[in-house]
Amino acid sequence: MDVHNLSDDEGYNSKSLGAKHVWHGRGENKDRQPLNGYPLVFQMHIKILGTRGEIRLAHPKHVRHSGVLIDKKLLFDLGEKAFLKWNPRSIFITHLHPDHAFFMASAEEITIDVPVFAPETSHRLTAMKVIAVPMQLGRYKITPIPVTHSIKVKALGFLIEKGDKRIFYTGDLISVRERYFETLGKLDAVITEASFLRKGGLVRKNEQGEIFGHAGVSDLVNLFSTFTSRIIFTHFGSCF
Ligand SMILES: [Zn+2]
Ligand SMILES: [Zn+2]
Repeated sequence: MDVHNLSDDEGYNSKSLGAKHVWHGRGENKDRQPLNGYPLVFQMHIKILGTRGEIRLAHPKHVRHSGVLIDKKLLFDLGEKAFLKWNPRSIFITHLHPDHAFFMASAEEITIDVPVFAPETSHRLTAMKVIAVPMQLGRYKITPIPVTHSIKVKALGFLIEKGDKRIFYTGDLISVRERYFETLGKLDAVITEASFLRKGGLVRKNEQGEIFGHAGVSDLVNLFSTFTSRIIFTHFGSCF
């Protein structure tokens, strides 16, 4: 499913801002500052590879777990081994639950040829590296933002920036801590989860008072509408 059918461009390894990024006079970029006389337009192509949360198969068109491909280069979450066929150049995993990192539930030994970044390492994929600080990859800046979701695994969302475009992708979450709100700032879009439609989602507490689970869709609309007018829901739960 192509969410934003925006044109792709090269530049993953490029440091230069080429003249081809000429503004064509549409939409909200109208007032942005030109560079060398040419206003720039940056676009991100978003492809949602899987929409299924951690639920049993319920529909033939709702089969695959989480995966979002940006500009056919950067893959966020690896809920299915099949997503490797897209040949992403780097992979970023929000958290090590199997519906976001298929290899956590796979008996076979996995090797992946491209860099894989996650909130923590695992013996199931030894080459995986921890991402804890912002990373620049060519024209993209990827900033990990801690989110509340699980007690057993660490969880992140990723702020993806390319030129003036800013997207926040989350896996599962209850909330984002307020101290990160300023970093999120104004966003072109948020891509987030829809495990639970109901207000309050499913939030549990352990004996130490630590919470874990998922916010509801209406909670996430409340949370993210401060940052953007575009919220894309995926990772649907049994409400689907
Ligand atoms: Zn999940
Ligand atoms: Zn999870």
